Amino acid sequence: MSHVLAAVAWPYANGPRHIGHVSGFGVPSDVFSRYMRMSGHDVLMVSGTDEHGTPIQVQADADGVTPRQLADRYNRVIVEDLQGLGLSYDLFTRTTTRNHYAVVQELFTGLNENGYIVAKTTLGAISPSTGRTLPDRYIEGTCPICGYESARGDQCDNCGNQLDPEQLLNPRSRINGETPKFVETEHFFLDLPAFAQSLGKWLDARDGWRPNVLKFSRNLLDDLQPRAITRDLEWGIPIPLDGWRDRADKRIYVWFDAVIGYLSASIEWARRSGDPEAWRRWWSADAQGKDALGYYFMGKDNIVFHSVIWPSLLLGYSGAGDKAGNPGSLGALNLPTEVVSSEYLTMEGRKFSSSRKVVIYVRDFLERYDADALRYFIAAAGPESNDTDFTWAEFVRRNNDELVAGWGNLVNRSISMAAKNFGEIPAALDLTPDDLALLETARAGFATVGELIGKHRQKAAIGEAMRVVAEANKYLSDQAPWKLKTEQEKPRMGTVLHVALQVVSDANTLLTPFLPHSAQKVHELLGGTGVHAPMPSIVEVEDLDGGPGYPVLTGDYTVGARWESVPLVAGTPLAAPKPVFRKLDPSVVEEELERLAS
Ligand SMILES: [Zn+2]
Repeated sequence: MSHVLAAVAWPYANGPRHIGHVSGFGVPSDVFSRYMRMSGHDVLMVSGTDEHGTPIQVQADADGVTPRQLADRYNRVIVEDLQGLGLSYDLFTRTTTRNHYAVVQELFTGLNENGYIVAKTTLGAISPSTGRTLPDRYIEGTCPICGYESARGDQCDNCGNQLDPEQLLNPRSRINGETPKFVETEHFFLDLPAFAQSLGKWLDARDGWRPNVLKFSRNLLDDLQPRAITRDLEWGIPIPLDGWRDRADKRIYVWFDAVIGYLSASIEWARRSGDPEAWRRWWSADAQGKDALGYYFMGKDNIVFHSVIWPSLLLGYSGAGDKAGNPGSLGALNLPTEVVSSEYLTMEGRKFSSSRKVVIYVRDFLERYDADALRYFIAAAGPESNDTDFTWAEFVRRNNDELVAGWGNLVNRSISMAAKNFGEIPAALDLTPDDLALLETARAGFATVGELIGKHRQKAAIGEAMRVVAEANKYLSDQAPWKLKTEQEKPRMGTVLHVALQVVSDANTLLTPFLPHSAQKVHELLGGTGVHAPMPSIVEVEDLDGGPGYPVLTGDYTVGARWESVPLVAGTPLAAPKPVFRKLDPSVVEEELERLAS
């Protein structure tokens, strides 16, 4: 048994999330965490909403609310969406908690004491007419990289590159249109070149990473530059240095604060669990966390933060960068075991875009379709290792032909036949070679499917589980138990149905990480009681350090099925089943496409 950290990318709280966001890392990290828990590992799955930075401030200004009010609104929307999908976070929190502020400032301080933070004079914008500082968000201009005309002072929304205001072509103030004047101002930078050797050594020792991630990360080491970790902005975490702490115009850069969320959320979880030191079992580089494994889930545009920048912060804080130093008060910390990045999901051939309305929000999706139907699509056809297109036609096809006609049909016909003819799980008498072969196929699935999930090959894993389902459907067709109607034949009918139900039970366990909602239902249809697939719930909590309260997603996942075949007990009562999955009318394809076009 190991301590397994599942660190999931933090959704940005400036709007509701669309299905592209949850396809890349939301659902895959949940599948992985559920499987690891079922296999007996002690999993800590954490994330939260990322709530600082210019885009939230800009949108709050536009909506006439405070940044905190805007973040409150979308934090709640996102928490509800993730719960609807059944994502089993041990803690899904947010970056505006006082605990997070304290942990971010602690890392800043530790890095600074070890000499990994350097002050540099850069150019900052002021308004020529008022002489006041112009925060990044009030500067707009043409992106020097892609030519987009409405790039902001800190980022281009078109190409996604981070920018400095003075890089913009034709910079202008969003307040009054005047051309800003650039004057010297001081900012803090993470001294990334001071990690070239220690990072290189660490990356050399990574095995099992996807080769493209490793190669990409190694290439970054050849050209490491100091990276700004503070910004001209009022909305964010204060800089914990004398002379800076009380300045209203300078804040820690949002990327620096958000990436520390994995650690602060783990600490918050421990504090809420009643054992404030419990987080160390996943994080401490000493004996307490020595069996710990850390898996980080994200989209491919975020690899650099997880394979280079976050490891640098951890090395520097732990006193293990090229300039050495001493660990801060939290002690030396573990680096990621693996960076699991996904590719992009497109939508009917186009890039998701809220502004261009090429979008399906999680909430809208869940209002019309079941969570497991989406989870199935993501697992079977998501952007695991290639950019992937979501089309409504393919969604409906997979739902109807695979989920309903394959798995749903197996569940439905085997349980109905047993319920109708026996009213209970019938006894298995003499097993034929065909019976034994099918039972063995299902049992072998635990090793095959489990190994594939452990290697983040979920598409292949669910394919193997569905292969067991297909074998069982074929077995039922071959054995045709519905023909075994005479008194003499009935024991054989019972045996065939017992075998089929045992395989339904095994396949259901194999599918539980992917389809937890329906797995619970199938468990109950088989006469099972209690929790089979635990679900997250939303809990309203107080801030631990006196800030405003907020909703978190959490749950007790120590209960539920184990990753093993559980023998069915003959005589367990069975009722006629209700269908577990819904067949979709093909007309929904057209309806959805019209909705998109409108
Ligand atoms: Zn651009």
